[in-house]
Amino acid sequence: MLKIEKLSVKVEGKQIVSNVNLTLPKGKVYAVFGPNGSGKSTLLMAVAGVPTYKIISGKILFEGEDITWMNIDERARLGIALAFQTPPEIVGVKLRDMLKICAGKKPGEEFSREELELIEAFNLKDFLDRNVNLGFSGGERKRAEVLQLLLMKPKLMLLDEPDSGVDIESLKLIGEAIQNYISESGASALLVTHQGQILEHVKADMACVLLNGSIKCYGDPYQMLENIRKYGYESCAACTRRRGEEQI
Ligand code: ADP
Ligand code: MG
Repeated sequence: MLKIEKLSVKVEGKQIVSNVNLTLPKGKVYAVFGPNGSGKSTLLMAVAGVPTYKIISGKILFEGEDITWMNIDERARLGIALAFQTPPEIVGVKLRDMLKICAGKKPGEEFSREELELIEAFNLKDFLDRNVNLGFSGGERKRAEVLQLLLMKPKLMLLDEPDSGVDIESLKLIGEAIQNYISESGASALLVTHQGQILEHVKADMACVLLNGSIKCYGDPYQMLENIRKYGYESCAACTRRRGEEQI
């Protein structure tokens, strides 16, 4: 489904991600752990094709096709969708219209029953006539972001810390919706999480730790999370026991 080979990425002339290798099979969830500033968002932006994130070397393959030099729209059409860590406020655009764009509606076309049910499940029905994210709380913002992503029906979800700055109720709601979608559709997810709370609701299959832009270690997500919680990312930096992706 997604294969990242020896990928290095720079932002504003500075190299942030170095030599990343990662293979995500169809229907699986790959958790990417790492401290703040380790390059997790940069990695996702590069996979999504956000233009300011420049690929220096390496390859990105999606369903066997080399997408390294495709632009963001072409990647979106293939079924790759990104949920931002910090979703921006969009003044002048109502949530209703944004959601319709995401769902691929024609002008004037209404939501289907299934889509309305999803909007209700996300507790966002009363937000439809508000500007996207304007004055939304942390949890509301993340709910709106993940809802937009799910309405696109992506094959590959790039989820950037869907659990950061989110209240417990929203976390559960977001996590369960992501897990349901994966189970029903067979989509895959590259799931960035700093503290791992989302993994209580979304079942991850494999994981890696990113440190200073490089993958330090691959392993079982829940075992890794336990170690990170116990010993912190500092112990990852000090660790000399390297585990390769083939050992997962
Ligand atoms: P993480 O998501 O793991 O916290 P990021 O990928 O956001 O890490 O950032 C990694 C490093 O890249 C940080 O040092 C950050 O300051 C830098 N960086 C990210 N985006 C930009 C940008 N647009 N301009 C300059 N530096 C950036
Ligand atoms: Mg980040």
